[in-house]
Amino acid sequence: MTPEMLLETCGEVSVPVDIEKLLKQNGIIYSAMDFTPLEKETSEKMVGQILGAVILDKDDVCILYAKNSTTNRKRFTLAHELAHCCLDADNLSAGQPHVEFRIDEASGSGKERVANIFAGKLLIPKNKLEEMYDSLIAPLSDVLAKEFQVSVSVMEARLQYLGLPYYSRESVAPIHEA
Ligand SMILES: [Zn+2]
Repeated sequence: MTPEMLLETCGEVSVPVDIEKLLKQNGIIYSAMDFTPLEKETSEKMVGQILGAVILDKDDVCILYAKNSTTNRKRFTLAHELAHCCLDADNLSAGQPHVEFRIDEASGSGKERVANIFAGKLLIPKNKLEEMYDSLIAPLSDVLAKEFQVSVSVMEARLQYLGLPYYSRESVAPIHEA
């Protein structure tokens, strides 16, 4: 399924996109998980490095996200793992979980990049973004990020993908009072 098809399963799209409702609607189970014991088993340096995992067993899909994730992080992990389910279903061999490491997701490798774009399309639908973008006098990436409940970096990647120019809070000179 494409991100557009998945959004359609929820009917009228509202902002922020209700990713949990979308998962439920598609019969996908998800749950928080404490990966710390597993991380510690590998090495102390691994603590905090597992973002999530996805398990595909026959037709049942289960997505896990790190228990201590922020709301934005949790939403992105759910969308990103759902992307892997749609894109790499053949590779997710039965019962063999795909574990998401922080370093992999940021690596920009082919598969991860495609999953990130998919997740961006899901959490930031084009028409909804354009609507909000046009209503702002100055399109600030952090203002848009807040509306869609995504991180600023996820929003900026989406804006770049769509070729929409934007202002970053860091690049805007602060207003000093006299
Ligand atoms: Zn991934």
